[in-house]
Amino acid sequence: MNFLAFAAKPETRPKTAVPLKTALWRGLTGRCPHCGEGRMFRAFLKVADRCDVCGEELHHQRADDFPAYLVIVLVGHLVVPLVLHVEMTYQPAYWIHAALFLPLTLALSLALIQPIKGAVIALQWHAGMHGFEEAKKLRGSVQAPG
Ligand SMILES: [Zn+2]
Repeated sequence: MNFLAFAAKPETRPKTAVPLKTALWRGLTGRCPHCGEGRMFRAFLKVADRCDVCGEELHHQRADDFPAYLVIVLVGHLVVPLVLHVEMTYQPAYWIHAALFLPLTLALSLALIQPIKGAVIALQWHAGMHGFEEAKKLRGSVQAPG
C-alpha cells in the first residue's frame, strides 16, 4: 500500500450485523458484505483491500483455492451429465463434443468464479474467520436496517 492509498482511506461506518443470506448475496454480486454498495473486487479476481464506500477491510480474506474447487464441482455436475446425455442420444463425433463442451466449460467456469469467490469471502466475513474476527466483534448483534 502506498502513502496516497492510505491517505485516501474512506470514512469508516459504524459496524452493524448483517444476516448471512444478505452477506452471501452481496458477495455473489461482488459487493461489500458489510454495506452492499462498495465493490469487493478491484480486478477480476483481485479483492480490494477495503470497501471504497464504508471502509470495511477485506484484505483478511483467505478464499485461496476453495472458490475454484466449488466451480469445478458445480461445472462438473452441469457439464458431465449433459455430455453423457448428448452422447447417449445423438452419438456425435468427438470433435463435436470438443467444439460444444470445451467452450461451455470455459464459459461457465469464468462466469462462476468471481461470484463464488465473492460468496466465499462474504461467508468468511460473516463468520469472523481469518482476521475478520475484530470486525465481527465490532458488529456485535446490532442489525442493519433493511
Ligand atoms: Zn462496504
